[in-house]
Parts: sequence; C-alpha cells; structure tokens
Amino acid sequence: MIALTRREFHLFQAAGRDFLYLVPSAAVFALDAPTSAVLRAIGDGEKGPYPFSASDSPEKGYGPFSRTEDAVIQALAERFDASTVRAAIAELLEVRAIGYEQQPAEQPVRMLPMMPFPLNTMVLNVTNQCNLACTYCYEYGEDKIVDTEHGKQSKFMAESTALESVEFLLRESGRVAHLTFFGGETLLNFPVLKSTIAYARRRAAEVGKEIDFSLTTNATLLKPEIIEFLAENRVGVTISIDGPREMQDKFRVFHNGAGSYDVVAPKIKELLRVHRSRPIGARVTLTSDTLDITKIYRHLTEEFGFWEVGFAPVTTSPNQQYAIGERGFDRMLGQFRALASEFLEQVAVNKHHGFSNVKDTLEEIHKGVSKAYPCGAGLGLLGVSTDGDVALCHRFAGSDAHKFGTVRDGIDRDVQTAFLQQHHIADKTDCSKCWARPLCSGGCYHEAHVRYGTTERPNLHYCEWIRGWTDTCLQIYGELSERNPDFLARFDREEAKAEAVL
Ligand code: SF4
Ligand code: SF4
Repeated sequence: MIALTRREFHLFQAAGRDFLYLVPSAAVFALDAPTSAVLRAIGDGEKGPYPFSASDSPEKGYGPFSRTEDAVIQALAERFDASTVRAAIAELLEVRAIGYEQQPAEQPVRMLPMMPFPLNTMVLNVTNQCNLACTYCYEYGEDKIVDTEHGKQSKFMAESTALESVEFLLRESGRVAHLTFFGGETLLNFPVLKSTIAYARRRAAEVGKEIDFSLTTNATLLKPEIIEFLAENRVGVTISIDGPREMQDKFRVFHNGAGSYDVVAPKIKELLRVHRSRPIGARVTLTSDTLDITKIYRHLTEEFGFWEVGFAPVTTSPNQQYAIGERGFDRMLGQFRALASEFLEQVAVNKHHGFSNVKDTLEEIHKGVSKAYPCGAGLGLLGVSTDGDVALCHRFAGSDAHKFGTVRDGIDRDVQTAFLQQHHIADKTDCSKCWARPLCSGGCYHEAHVRYGTTERPNLHYCEWIRGWTDTCLQIYGELSERNPDFLARFDREEAKAEAVL
C-alpha cells in the first residue's frame, strides 16, 4: 500500500487547538481531534509528537513523516473507528496537508504576473534634501545608494515634473490610484505638493479615476496652514518618529546635532488635534539602542494620541554600531510578542489597538496572500526621482541601476520583465523551502542591497525573526478566529468596499 506523507505546512497552537498554515495555498486550517491525531500518527518522530514545520526534516531527526493508511488506522484504533480516520485522511489530502509518497510535492511555480501590471501606488520623491540629519538615514549615511548631495538629480522636484508624474500615474493605474509624497523631508517642497494634489484631483476626475493622497514627514515643518491643507484634502499622514525624547534625540537630529523632539512634539500634537479626516500613523525605526518597543508604543499612543504605530528595524550594513544583531532581533521579537498579546486581548473584546505590524500581517494571512515577490516594488508600486526617473521604489529613486524608465517615456517593459524574472521566489533557493515564504518572499530589496550589494539575495540574516514573528501572528489569527471572528471578517468587508469603487 502507498504510504501517506506530510506536505508543506507550519503547525501552530492557538485557542487550545492545533492549526496548520498550509504553505502552497497560504491557507489556515483548524484541526479537529481526528485530523490532529492522523497527522500525529503520520509524523510521529523521535523529537516529539508533531512535525513542527516544513524545515524539520528527517535528516534533523524528525519524522519519519510517512505511513500507510492501514498503519495509521491501526495506530489510532483505540481512539477512532476506521471510517473516522479515513474521513480525516481524506480531509487532509484535500487541503494538501498530506499526500501520497510517490507523488511529487508542490514547488513554487515560476509564473510571472500578467503584463502590463497596473500601477497601484506611485511614490513621488519631491525632494532628496532633508533638514534633519538622522544618523541611520539610508539616504545620507554610508549606506546610501544615490548621491543626493553631489549627484546628477535635482535637489527639488519641479512642478512640471510632478504634473508629468501625475499623468504617468493616471495612464498606468487601474480605476484607483494612490499618490504618496516622500523625501528627503517631503514638506521642504510643500508648494509643489500642494499644486500637484489640486492638479491630480482635477485630472483624475476628468479621466474617471479615483485618486488618494498620502505623505511621510519628519514633522519639523508642520505649521497651521499646512496642517489645515492636509486635513481639508484628506491627505493620509505618516510621521517618522522614534519615541520619547531620549530615543528620538539619539538619532533624529538636526545638522548641528541638536535633537528634534522638542521641535516636533508640539507640531505633532497640533496635527493630531486638527487633522481628523483620516487616522494618523507613526512609523518608528528601531536600532540596537532603541528597542524598548512597549515604552515607545505607550508614549506615541498615550502621550501623542497616534491611532497606529508601525515599527521597522533599521536598514543598514551589519558593521554600523546601531545595526540590530542576532541578540537584538531576539529581544525585538520578545517585545513584539508582548505587544502583540496586548493587541489580541484588546481586539478580542472589540477595542482598538494601534500596533499596526500585527494588523497588517493578520490581513495578509486572512486574505491568503502568497507572494512571489516580497512587496509591490517594481510591480504595483514604483518610485519617482526628483528628475522624473521611474525606479524600483522610493528608496532606489535616482539610481541608474534600478531605473525602470521615466515618467515621460513610461515604464521600460523589458527592464521590468527582466527584473521580475530575476527576483521570483522560485529562484531563491533557501526561500523556496521555507514555510514563511508566502508572507516574506525573501524580504525588502533595499535591505538586501545594503546588506549584500544586490537586490537578488534573500535577507537570510533575519529569517529567525521573520519566522518567529509570522508564527506569533498566526497564533493571534487562530485565537481571533475563535474569540472574535468578526474582527477578521472586517478585512473582507473592507475589501468588498474597495472593490465596489473599482
Ligand atoms: S528570507 Fe528567510 S524567512 Fe524569508 S522566505 Fe526566505 S528563507 Fe524564509
Ligand atoms: S523594496 Fe523595501 S523599501 Fe522598497 S517598497 Fe519594498 S519593502 Fe519597501
């Protein structure tokens, strides 16, 4: 008789039961007692009762992970009758958690997206200049890709380039387009931002498309008329801020070295008081020196009143003193987990919690996202440099090596296709065997470029962190599916609403 064998999944526990994250389909599957017992019977190995994840191979002492149907029925005879076991086997076969030994397991298929792929988000670098000199900034530090001080790109985007960019976006987008303003410090070029929004709104209406605006700022240049404009125009705002004074002033400093906390704090409070048309989020850069995530979160939500706070580890080469090392990633994971359980307890009783890293991952899990590429860069998202060069994303704007065309001449489809061919998950050997790949897919291209000098390499230095964090989010997903499924159903309702616009 042909032996049954386990396929690729990640097993996790939540709400007192077992769940599987099925890797090829990126679906979450709740196990009942018989399916759980069948998997146990197939996967019983010397290292414990369960195959833990796809990377626990027989060579590592796990397994054997294969048994004939009769052997499974026999092993479970005291607990379940044969028909129950057969039904459980059928169910597991159907969701592809198990398969027959001689049938090949599914591998990531190297299929490129349909072209032309609609441009969903254009990130416009309206300036590459900044009035701060944050020590870790990828644009000005040793890790910079583009020489913004002495390079050939203009320091500020001209209005004509911004308007050409709008035309480019409206040509390339689907029914809905997102225009994000970025820098340098975005508000240094407020006049161009202002006229671009007015122009884009009018042109979008003329061509029958929806357009939405957002920006990222360091908050130093916020003043009443700017705040009023942002509120009136429903511009989504993300503030880059690192937390309480001692953390903010460690790295987020002016060119003379002075800390920026005392300058930005009153301006942010005024923004949050006046701009009520959209929730305002904070974006925190974590370094080896600033890893007290709970403290940062409390400060930003309680002292300032931010609706959401998102955290990202600093992107840097490993030799920088502020780079997060292995122990730092462990600490970060511990802190993320503590804040994530707080998120769970709040959300389970329908209260808001602003830890956006969890919410974003839960949404991806719920939608069964399975990425062939780590993010939208080069596909649904493109960056535009001050001179109108189209780039992989905003972090590569102005880099000739990562140029995808210009806003005048459009996207160079050959370059784009070649990029997509070279960066597909199926070609990342380590990733193609990793259970976390549907959500990670190798990680940020910019991080890889800074670490390894190429966007093609996966970010293998943080796999443990990615897998640990994905496991945590899966557990929270499993808990919520039992304790407050309506919270997850909200993602469907939001998607349906967005589709109704299309
Ligand atoms: S970078 Fe690491 S965690 Fe991410 S998919 Fe690749 S192997 Fe998995
Ligand atoms: S490549 Fe990195 S920085 Fe660029 S959009 Fe993707 S995740 Fe963001």
